[in-house]
Amino acid sequence: MPKSPFFAACEHGPRPFGSVAWVLALLTLTVSQLALFGQAPAQQALPTLSVVVTPHGDNAPAQRDKPYLILVSIDGFRFDYARLYGATNLQSLARRGASAPKGMIPAYPSVTFPNHYTIITGLYPENHGIVANSFYDPARKQKFVYTDRSTSGDGSWYGGVPLWVLAERQGMRAACFFWPGAEAEIGGVRPTYNVLYDPRMPNEQRVNQVVDWLRLRPEQRPHIITLYFSDVDTAGHETGTDSPQTAQAVRRIDGLIGRLSAGIATLGLPVNLVVVSDHGMVNTQGPWINLQDFADLTGFQTVGPLLYPPDEAAAARVYAQLHNASDKFVVYRRSQLPARLHYSRSERIGDPVVVPTGPYLIRAYASNDPKEVPPKGMHGYDPQSMEAMRGIFYAAGPGIRPGATLAPFENVNVYPLLAKILGLETGPIDGDPNALQSILRMTSAPALRRPGALVPSQPQR
Ligand SMILES: [Zn+2]
Repeated sequence: MPKSPFFAACEHGPRPFGSVAWVLALLTLTVSQLALFGQAPAQQALPTLSVVVTPHGDNAPAQRDKPYLILVSIDGFRFDYARLYGATNLQSLARRGASAPKGMIPAYPSVTFPNHYTIITGLYPENHGIVANSFYDPARKQKFVYTDRSTSGDGSWYGGVPLWVLAERQGMRAACFFWPGAEAEIGGVRPTYNVLYDPRMPNEQRVNQVVDWLRLRPEQRPHIITLYFSDVDTAGHETGTDSPQTAQAVRRIDGLIGRLSAGIATLGLPVNLVVVSDHGMVNTQGPWINLQDFADLTGFQTVGPLLYPPDEAAAARVYAQLHNASDKFVVYRRSQLPARLHYSRSERIGDPVVVPTGPYLIRAYASNDPKEVPPKGMHGYDPQSMEAMRGIFYAAGPGIRPGATLAPFENVNVYPLLAKILGLETGPIDGDPNALQSILRMTSAPALRRPGALVPSQPQR
């Protein structure tokens, strides 16, 4: 359960350049930033915004009249933050469209990479293969590390069909301004437009680029666009859920949602805006718990709290040693995990599997960093027994019924909803295509195309 958002600015520092080979293999365009909102030019230290373009041709004629969809993720935005901290633009989205007042339920474990990838594929982590932010693959004998572009940018780690791949395969252009998996060629397909992750990229530039993409001519204009913000997760980890810093991060990102809504309103296009988060946040209790204090992990591969045994006997032994060892966690053989967690089918999960019973910090081995400070906020816990793990869901636009509300639902159901909004056919998935049906407008096609249905509130300062 790493404490940083994906690609972890604070842990490893920004790494603006990835595999040079594949970047050069693609046509790289630098897109000048149009000052849509009259902002000052970027400061010197800020990164240049480069859009990696993978040409797939124009939007197919059958796709051009379809609506547009912007999918925004605000990492670590707990379901009750908007009300607690006065996120007026998100609350306005709820009035103009649909929301889940009691939150959206992440997949287990409630961490960034697995859940972003569940939202974008409609598969549980055990089925899409990204079972943690970092994990080991016993068959490959390799580690996947979300902050290491040599693995997070390697499509062979990723299962399922991300929405941008689904779209591109059906002749619909797609764009990603950051999303876990977006830098990889998955199923042989990349999004037409992509920006390599750089945490220093100013949030305003991200919003401007998304709106600029929608100003392209119809043949080139992406119909599905992803966008990602890390500020709220970072503040939650560093300062806890009740801090002024977290409240400020919530309002700052809410202001960007207002800016994005205002930008959309200038376009005269049928744009649906969906805002989600991958998980919530909870204040931690107690110091780190190191599994090495309870069990002999000799011969195991470990990644964070995940345990990979050298053989069955070692798995059985460590299970017995961890069983009833603490009231802070429960240990299962992988095949015995509760079915509701959908966390058994992949060898990448390890065996045995330790599930925290509360907001505790658990890992295999103690850190050797004497200056280590435990994070104040954390996530990753059982999202069905801990309400604080729930994220957000807001949706507004011509395809969405105003004022619709949803009881808490699993985020695996978002993908079929988005595919339906875009008129794309999905393959086999875990998500239920009917779970969120109630928020869709009773579609006559003209309603889907009605421009200007998304009216923003006043952008927040
Ligand atoms: Zn986090």
